[in-house]
Amino acid sequence: MPIIIKTPTEWRKTQEKLNHTIGFVPTMGNLHAGHLALVERALKENETVVVSIFVNHTQFNDPADYDNYLRTLDEDCSKLDAINAHYVFNPNKDTMYPENYEVQVSENTDSEFMEGQFRQGHFTGMLTVVLKLLNIIGADKAYFGEKDFQQLKLIQKMVNALFIPTEIIACPTMREENGLALSSRNNRLTDDEKNHASLLYKYLSDFNLSDLEVKEALEKTGFRPEYVETKWGRRLTAAWLGDVRLIDNIPIQERK
Ligand code: AMP
Repeated sequence: MPIIIKTPTEWRKTQEKLNHTIGFVPTMGNLHAGHLALVERALKENETVVVSIFVNHTQFNDPADYDNYLRTLDEDCSKLDAINAHYVFNPNKDTMYPENYEVQVSENTDSEFMEGQFRQGHFTGMLTVVLKLLNIIGADKAYFGEKDFQQLKLIQKMVNALFIPTEIIACPTMREENGLALSSRNNRLTDDEKNHASLLYKYLSDFNLSDLEVKEALEKTGFRPEYVETKWGRRLTAAWLGDVRLIDNIPIQERK
């Protein structure tokens, strides 16, 4: 089983004994094959791999989403054990926020639209916790998914702006066979909804349709899309299906 570390001090003591390259994969747990692909990549490129599991309250704009977020530490550790990951960093709220979130990191340009427009405060919470985690772990490389593309762009921007000495590695989105991007929130979809949700990928990757036409096609088929936009050479979307909010994005060069 991976060794569970609860505090920055405990990790520092462990790290002092390691003379290794360290790869770091930050997560909120409820791990699926998308997370595990990041961990596998980290294991290939580093001698020691740390996976953090922390459901970060400051990045949830919706308290019900935070309450409903599945906490599955034991199952997560078993999955990490099966691929031989070394450490799990699993702090609590008070450990991560000794200042009670009175210190924050924000970006004021690329965080203002898409996710930033529909999830007030989300990116400030996300950047703040990622900076804390990068500082605590002191990894050589940290691995993030392209699934959360705007998040990835903001993290890369923060790391450059603040001269953080960890290299950010972007990893491709893992999908179900029907195209649905893997996500912890998919657990809240029924089987029927999961099948239906594959339409999101289908329309998003139909480059014969404009962004507006994709939005209209989603509306007609029972989604409640918040945005469909082209940016950074990708088409990005967020859409609700029932009470689950799905996000996805596709590089434009995948045009068929
Ligand atoms: P989360 O636990 O949702 O905060 O995600 C932790 C990391 O896993 C983030 O860097 C995500 O972008 C990444 N991730 C989540 N889903 C996927 C996926 N389907 N494919 C690849 N990476 C993913």
